[in-house]
This record gives sequence, C-alpha cells and structure tokens, in this order.
Amino acid sequence: MRKRWEKFLTAAAFGTAAGMTLKKVRDIRRRREKERRTAIEAAVMRNRNYGSRKAHIIGGGLAGLAAAAYLVRDCHFPGKQITIYEAADMLGGSNDGQGSPEKGYACRGMRLIDQDNYENFWELFYTIPSLNCRGKSVAEEILEFHAKHPIRTRARLTDGDGNILNAKAMEFNLQDRMALTRLVMMDEKKLDGLTVQDWFKETPHLFETNFWRLWQTTFAVQPWSSLSHFRRCLRRVLPAFGWIDSLKGAVRTPLNQHDSLIRPLEEYLRREGVSFKQNCQVTDMEFAEGPGLTVKTLYLKQRVEEEEARAGESFVFKKVELDSGDICIMTNGAVSENTAFGSLDRPAVPSLRRPASSQLWEKITLKKPGLGSPEPFFSKPEKTERMSFTITAQGNALLKEIRKFSGGRPEEEARITFGQSPWLLTSTVPVQPYFSGQPEDVTVLWGYGLAPRALGAYVNKAMEDCTGREILEEYLCCMHVPEERRAALMETVINVIPCRMPYAEAPTAPAKAGDKPKVLPTGSVNFAMIGQFVEIPEDMVLTEEYAVRSARTAVYGLMDMKREVCPVTPHGRRPFVLLRAARRAL
Ligand SMILES: Cc1cc2nc3c(=O)[nH]c(=O)nc-3n(C[C@H](O)[C@H](O)[C@H](O)COP(=O)(O)OP(=O)(O)OC[C@H]3O[C@@H](n4cnc5c(N)ncnc54)[C@H](O)[C@@H]3O)c2cc1C
Repeated sequence: MRKRWEKFLTAAAFGTAAGMTLKKVRDIRRRREKERRTAIEAAVMRNRNYGSRKAHIIGGGLAGLAAAAYLVRDCHFPGKQITIYEAADMLGGSNDGQGSPEKGYACRGMRLIDQDNYENFWELFYTIPSLNCRGKSVAEEILEFHAKHPIRTRARLTDGDGNILNAKAMEFNLQDRMALTRLVMMDEKKLDGLTVQDWFKETPHLFETNFWRLWQTTFAVQPWSSLSHFRRCLRRVLPAFGWIDSLKGAVRTPLNQHDSLIRPLEEYLRREGVSFKQNCQVTDMEFAEGPGLTVKTLYLKQRVEEEEARAGESFVFKKVELDSGDICIMTNGAVSENTAFGSLDRPAVPSLRRPASSQLWEKITLKKPGLGSPEPFFSKPEKTERMSFTITAQGNALLKEIRKFSGGRPEEEARITFGQSPWLLTSTVPVQPYFSGQPEDVTVLWGYGLAPRALGAYVNKAMEDCTGREILEEYLCCMHVPEERRAALMETVINVIPCRMPYAEAPTAPAKAGDKPKVLPTGSVNFAMIGQFVEIPEDMVLTEEYAVRSARTAVYGLMDMKREVCPVTPHGRRPFVLLRAARRAL
C-alpha cells in the first residue's frame, strides 16, 4: 500500500514538474515573440516620416503629458510638432504642488500608487529620467524610496475614544459576503445607472463594517457612487484585501506628485522640443463636414501677459487650423475643475462657473454623435466634491503628537481615519521633506474629508465652511490633544490651506453606458479623448493608471501602432490572490 502511494506521489511530482517546465517554455516563447514584434514595430516607427504633421493635445494633466510622451517615445513623432494646451498656469492638473516655507505649501492630493496594478504607469515611468537621482528612472527612484520608507500604517482606523481598531477584521456578515460575491460576479452591463446604495439596500450592515470604512476612505467610494465603479474597484484591487488595513502594498512618491512625476515628465518633453501653452483654454472645436470625426479647427482663449493685460485686454482669442494628417487628443473633463484654496483664516470658496472642460465636451457632443455626455459627472458637485488640507508647521511638534497617538513612526502612517469624525477626516504623514526646497525644520502634513458638508465632531461647522485654523482644531481634537497643547501646537503652524474640489470624484458618479465616450470614438479619423471621463473596459477610474492608460490607448490607436497597451492584470484568475482575499473576507 505504502509503495503504491510512493509511486503515485512520484508520478504526481513528475507530472507537476513536467507541466511547470512546459508552461515556462511556452512563456519564454511568448515573451520572445512579443519582443521580436516590438522590435519590428519600433523599427517601422523609427523610419516613419511625419513630414509637417502636428499633434494638438488639450489638457496638460498627467493624461495629456503621457500622450505626448508616448508620441515621442514610441512613435518617434517629432517633439517640436506637438503642442499641449493647458487652461491653468501650471502643468499637472490635479497632480499639483506649490507654496513656500514662509506662506505654507499646498497640494490637492497625496497619492498612493498601487504596486500590483498601474501596469502602464510603471512602464512609462521606467523610461522617464528622474530629476533627483542621476542615471535612474522615475520608477526606480520611487521604488528605491519605497524600500527605504515602506508604509506600515498602525492606526488605519480609530474609534471616537482614540483607540486603534483592528482593521484586519472586515466585519462582514453572511449577507454582506453574499451580496459582495454576487456583485463581483455580475455582468457589468446589468448595473447601468445603479449606485452602491441600490445594490446593498437589503444589506445596509455593509456600510457599518471596517471593510466599508477602509474602501470608502482609501478608494473614495461613496454610497452614491456608481455601482460599476465599485465592482471594478473590487476586482481591480483584489490583492488589496491582503494589505488594506496597513496599506503596505501601496507606494508613495518621494516628493509630492508635481515634483516627483509631473516635473520629470515635463522636463523630458521640453528636451524633446514639445511646446506648452499654459493659461490657454480650448473653448471650442470644429469637425470636418460629413461622416467620421476629423477635427479641423480649435478655438483658443489665451490669457495675456501682465503688461498687455494692464493695457486693457485680459485674453486674446485665436484659431488653430489643423491640416490633413494632424491629430487632436482631448482631455474631456478635469477632476481639478473649479478647485479653490483658502488659508489659515479664510475658507476655500470655489467658483460657481460651469467647469470649462465640461463646456468644451458638451459643445462637441452637440456636433457629433458618440461623444458621451458630461451631464451625469458635472451636475452634482454636492455628490462629487472632496476637501483636502495641507498643514505647514515650524519644527516637528505635530509629528510628535501623531507618534503619541498612533504609537508608530508618523511617516509610516499613510492614512489615519478618525472614527468620530462626521467629515470622514483622514490624515496622512509624508516622509519629510515633501516639497522641493522644503527646509529641514519645516513639517508638512496633509489630510482630507469625504463628507465636507457634515458638521464637525468638535467644530460646529461644515468642513467646507471652515478656515484652515478650524480644520486643524478638529483634527487635533480627533487625536484627543488637550487644550493647552493644542494652543502650543497652533503657535508652530505657518499655514493650513483648505482646498475644495467640487469635481474630485466626478468620474465615479453613476452614469449610463455611453456617457463616457470611447478613447477612440466610432468614426475617429484624427481625434481621441483621454483622462478620467472616457471608457476603458475593466479599469478603475480616478487613478494615475487610468490617465496613463487612456493616453497610451489614444496614441497607439491614432498612430496605428501595433504594440500592446499593458492589459489590466486579471487578479480574479490568480488562485493565490483569490485565496488571500477569501481568507480576509471570512
Ligand atoms: C484629491 C485627489 C486625490 C487622488 N488620489 C489618488 C491616489 O491616491 N492614487 C491615484 O492613483 N490617483 C489618485 N487621484 C486621481 C489622479 O490624480 C487623477 O486621476 C489623475 O491625476 C487625472 O489626470 P488627468 O490628466 O486625467 O486629469 P486632470 O488632473 O484633471 O488634468 C486635466 C487637465 O486638463 C486641463 N484641461 C481640460 N480641458 C481643457 C481645455 N478645454 N483647455 C485647456 N486645458 C484643459 C485642465 O485644466 C487640467 O489641468 C486623486 C485625485 C484627486 C483629485
């Protein structure tokens, strides 16, 4: 009997080994074939003659800059023939970062980058030279920084008494598990127009769980968000079940994303001769008559230099005619629209004007079919808003306070969500310095609130009506800092800059199929759309990856490039990932 078992086990071991070897051989063959095809495609691209063809890119956010980078890097399109039009005075869109040690620093976001996903993001930044580490790429710089400064959040969720909760426990009941599993398996087409709340109306317990608080405050999913978005989020970040309580699977950039990502990308493009037209809004465009989508004219509204403005006009209006062979890539909607910044003693008050990017988008939908609809995304700022704040302080007294509260090294606390806060207040401690030129004795902290219309737990005001000082007061009270220490800490503060972003979560608003247009709309001849408001099957919006992926898809499509855009990683087909997620969910 024992012998028979031994024989059986030996045969099984040989079988498995043979299977694995065969798979390896197949993988190697596939990789070689892919490399061969890429090399041929690169040679074809190198020898292409673009003549005087031009590329017009609307929007200088990450998506627009990435589009220019793909044109230059992969298509060998002459940089001098690429123009990027940006309505703001600075490039980067929502990847901003500005300020000084005297006046205080500010940034809209302090991003976490996903190591398991972000396939195109990593691929692109492996080829963009770092500005700070000679001979290294931006991706290498980020990963080296991460190795030195890993995230090990201890106080991810806390309760009203300041106790650290066990965020490993997802706290599901059987119905929650069943509803979640059904959602993940569901055909997305059947979820059109539905919200998260609609799906879980029979199992409202889900909204009381640690799982929900973690997902809500890490991935900005709200009960009124699009259900398809939530489903994609669950599938896309499946490995996050294993690390979401500590965030140790996420990566940070060494400095803010403007300094760490946008500036190197901008520098790379400038060296290639790309032109940037900042303070220049594209207000309208015309398509050639007849079927198909061929952009033939762009209308620009350019802010004039200070001296000319003093002489009378603030703007000049121009027209750009596109020639045959020219292309136009448009960011059809910006999450940074109408952002307003306040200060220590002034709340942030956003403008009520209609967001410029959505106006252009709307205009073109009236001219041609198949270009989606901005209405579901840009009509309900009360549902799509988010607020953040940046604290700049002299010395490190604030860091010591956070260490006292969390018990860990403050810079390892990538996110702390305060259970008692109706604003859903969450704070982040970056590794210092976080801004280029930030002095050693100046500290920067950042935080956000996902429910800025609610009254605070300690400050009897909606977050959106608060000055920086009031937001800091609420934050310190959430950490149970006694009054006398709060006053002393306040003395160290240089500025607290509140930031209101009415459309920060607009891409996650519920919508119907077709409201987000395809990157290459049907009939496209020289036109593509990029950013957070286009449809990319299976991918999850409101990420850096989505911006880069849309840009790559647009460029490869328009330039008839045969190379593959990195596919979305199929975590759902990986047994270990599934097993780990299932273990956490039980
Ligand atoms: C607060 C916040 C936190 C975030 N956190 C994370 C995170 O942790 N991890 C992550 O991966 N992602 C995060 N994101 C998402 C990510 O930053 C964005 O998805 C990405 O930066 C969007 O880039 P974009 O180029 O598509 O759009 P945007 O950044 O919105 O840039 C678009 C640009 O186009 C310009 N533009 C648009 N229309 C016109 C026009 N007609 N004429 C001229 N210019 C125009 C706008 O002025 C803007 O500068 C966060 C976003 C925000 C707002």
